[in-house]
Amino acid sequence: MSSKSIILKTGREKSVLHRHPWIFSGAVDQVNGSPQAGETVLVRNASGDLLGSAAFSPASQIRARMWTWDTEETIDEAFFQKRIEKALEFRKGVIPAGETDAYRLIHGESDGLPGLVVDLYGDWLVVQILSCGAEAHRETLVRLLEELIGIGNIYERSDVDVRQLEGLTDRTGVLHGVRPPDPLWIHENGVKFAVDLVKGQKTGFYLDQRANRHRVGQLAESRSVLNCFCYSGGFSLYALMGGAKDVISVDSSAEALNLARLNLQANSLPAQKAEWLQGDVFHVLREMRDRARKFDLIILDPPKFAHTAAQAEKAARGYKDINLLAFKLLNSGGILATFSCSGGVSADLFQKIVAGAALDAGVDARIIDLLRQGPDHSVALNFPEGAYLKGIICQV
Ligand code: SAH
Repeated sequence: MSSKSIILKTGREKSVLHRHPWIFSGAVDQVNGSPQAGETVLVRNASGDLLGSAAFSPASQIRARMWTWDTEETIDEAFFQKRIEKALEFRKGVIPAGETDAYRLIHGESDGLPGLVVDLYGDWLVVQILSCGAEAHRETLVRLLEELIGIGNIYERSDVDVRQLEGLTDRTGVLHGVRPPDPLWIHENGVKFAVDLVKGQKTGFYLDQRANRHRVGQLAESRSVLNCFCYSGGFSLYALMGGAKDVISVDSSAEALNLARLNLQANSLPAQKAEWLQGDVFHVLREMRDRARKFDLIILDPPKFAHTAAQAEKAARGYKDINLLAFKLLNSGGILATFSCSGGVSADLFQKIVAGAALDAGVDARIIDLLRQGPDHSVALNFPEGAYLKGIICQV
């Protein structure tokens, strides 16, 4: 067991006792033994009582991430094996056989593995290492993933902004096996999607929206649909499968729209019902309002507007703007499916913003469904920050 340790300030052990995995710099009184970035340290309260073990992160405001609250447990290969096995076991219960061949296997803190994200895409694994604690154990983690999951093709996509906060630079490339094909095909609820694991957004696909795409698809029959921030056409394809009259899809990325067109073709869906628009949704919605365009179903699935709680206000203005415009573009009886993946914007706040947008647009709307990320993007009850995606389906 490590002899290096951090001592918390008096009274600052509460969140650790509640099994929250993050220890902020302001809670730390002393660091003993000069631990390196990512090294395991013992965590003690001000009286010296042992609370567990954590990964030390000298550069980050999150100064340490708890590996365990078990004061006997050592952070070694056997520890990581147990945690990975638990995560895999949980997925067996929440992903019905045949639903998809692409889903999240490990979701960081919520799976007891802070800073580690692993997504399965058919015969490939995509790994993201987001904290210096996980970084320090990268060889062990990659070897265990290969052994325990039995998939030999592992690609790294640690090209995410949060690594900078941990003092880490981007890393991408093959970790094991061969380079993924471009594109790789996945199958989700009977829909085929082309995924670019090397250059695509996130780890290649928005796996967290799987159940919500399905739900929205069920509401699309005979409706004219506007899908904003469409990426590779996820919601658009489900809407067409669900019998939509026509679908206009908007995204600013040409690469995303190329994938979307490929996906439409691969699923033998009628090209004349789908229009793909490259543009800025904020402008496109205004233009459509000025031309008095109307739709029966509008989807808003923007990128993260707030990375931290401090940016919530600016994010709120962005959400208000697009939701207000969308409400104005809906026919009577029309449906809005609106999402926020900003961790800094709570479900409560998001609902208030959408309510404010409806008020200013002069429409009455009722909630049909409240949505969240799929269960493979697990949320530990002791880590509410893990629940970042929220959605509201409402009808005017
Ligand atoms: N709904 C998609 C995921 C959307 S992710 C799915 O189910 O797969 C957000 C998308 O918004 C990205 O594809 C990004 O390229 C696009 N985007 C970001 N800012 C934009 C803007 N201002 N206007 C249009 N598209 C934007």
